[in-house]
Amino acid sequence: MRVLVVEDEPDLLRGLVQSLQEEGYAVDQAADGLEGLTKAEMWEYDAIVLDLMLPKMGGWDVLARLRGAKKKTPVLILTARDKVSDRVRGLDAGADDYLVKPFALHELLARLRAIIRRSSGHAEATIQIGDVVVDTATKSVKKFGVAVALTAREYALVNCWRCIAASSLPEP
Ligand code: CA
Repeated sequence: MRVLVVEDEPDLLRGLVQSLQEEGYAVDQAADGLEGLTKAEMWEYDAIVLDLMLPKMGGWDVLARLRGAKKKTPVLILTARDKVSDRVRGLDAGADDYLVKPFALHELLARLRAIIRRSSGHAEATIQIGDVVVDTATKSVKKFGVAVALTAREYALVNCWRCIAASSLPEP
């Protein structure tokens, strides 16, 4: 799974990137809206974590440009704003979920898993590749029905390989 984090607060950005990597995600980062939009347009991500108040280009504009370009990458909005009207605006603008700062890390991880699962059309959190079954909820892998012990890094590689396989399909 490949995730883009767009956040201009250095400490929060660093913490998020580290936590997501520990969870087995391949993580790209952007410290302003323009860089975030550029990366989101250039690469295929399984999800984008997007702050709203960003230098150069605000999160709303990033989201609008992505959706305008028919990019359906699931977006989790991250913001200090906590007004209901902002939440509604975020969801109307094509965000998939909304998280208000300060947030608990495990909640962010759970919501991220949920929007990725919804967007990939997997009602269940398992993905089968030949004889190998990857459970994205428990981050476990089974081969021929037998659990395979993997480190977080090895699991990330399994997931990366799946991403590469999916993204290398030619455009219609
Ligand atoms: Ca910010």
